[in-house]
Amino acid sequence: MYRGTILWLNQSRSRSAAGHPGNKERTHGKDNTRKMAARLLATTARRLAMPAAAALTATTAAACDSQKEDRLQALERRIAALEPRKTNPTDHWASDLLAADVLFSERDIEQMVGSLATQISRDYAGRDVVIVGLMDGVFMFLADLSRKIDTQHQLDFISASSYGLGTVSSGNVRIKKDADTALAGKHVLLVDEICDSGRTLASLKLLISQRNAASVKTCVLLDKVSRRQADIRPDYVGAVCPDEFVVGYGMDWGGKLRSLPFVGVVRRELYES
Ligand code: 5GP
Ligand code: MG
Repeated sequence: MYRGTILWLNQSRSRSAAGHPGNKERTHGKDNTRKMAARLLATTARRLAMPAAAALTATTAAACDSQKEDRLQALERRIAALEPRKTNPTDHWASDLLAADVLFSERDIEQMVGSLATQISRDYAGRDVVIVGLMDGVFMFLADLSRKIDTQHQLDFISASSYGLGTVSSGNVRIKKDADTALAGKHVLLVDEICDSGRTLASLKLLISQRNAASVKTCVLLDKVSRRQADIRPDYVGAVCPDEFVVGYGMDWGGKLRSLPFVGVVRRELYES
């Protein structure tokens, strides 16, 4: 959620960069908003220890205009309610394998899944939708998401793999188990837990479109935008994920760590030499 907030502020910075020249009445409000934006981002950075938030503070603050004041106030309230960033307890059974900070806590995940379910319920209400999960990593995310989607939907699964035991995508997407449902004429929502190079989602989206689905959209909990190789942008994204190999909430490292209820980062020294 807080990563989404940072993105929102960043976008608002780009949008407002063009400015509103000549509107003198706004100058006072602009100063207030600038201060508010600076305070907001500084609080976010402090509470969540996010270097990205700190780096954005100056530029975002300088570009915010008075029109955004009410939205900033709403954001401030949301950020105040955020859970401070958690560190992995040293007595946790997986602490030797994980980096010190939890990337997405159980509460972060619950909020992201809730928000995705709300959007999907709204967009697919009254439609004949088949939600196709990409096994195996999606099992925990899809179990939670499906329960929160407030409209009729069918569930199916595809198992495709490109990773094997490593931490880097091989780029070869192989279908191990296909969907059981005939997808022609159906609205299909492909769900994966994380998008990295994008090759898996792009290949499967193409495959399902070729089966004459009425529409094909994609949903991921986490999006490693910076690593994209294929031409795909997921339609529904829980949060942007940094370029780290993450585990937990269904995601594994050579078969291990899937069962963690939060998303953590594997210590780099364990797979880099
Ligand atoms: P892509 O085809 O986008 O490169 O890879 C997508 C698939 O790779 C995901 O469904 C997931 O299974 C796996 N993957 C990508 N990044 C990570 C990661 O950081 N951790 C884990 N455990 N799996 C990942
Ligand atoms: Mg996967």
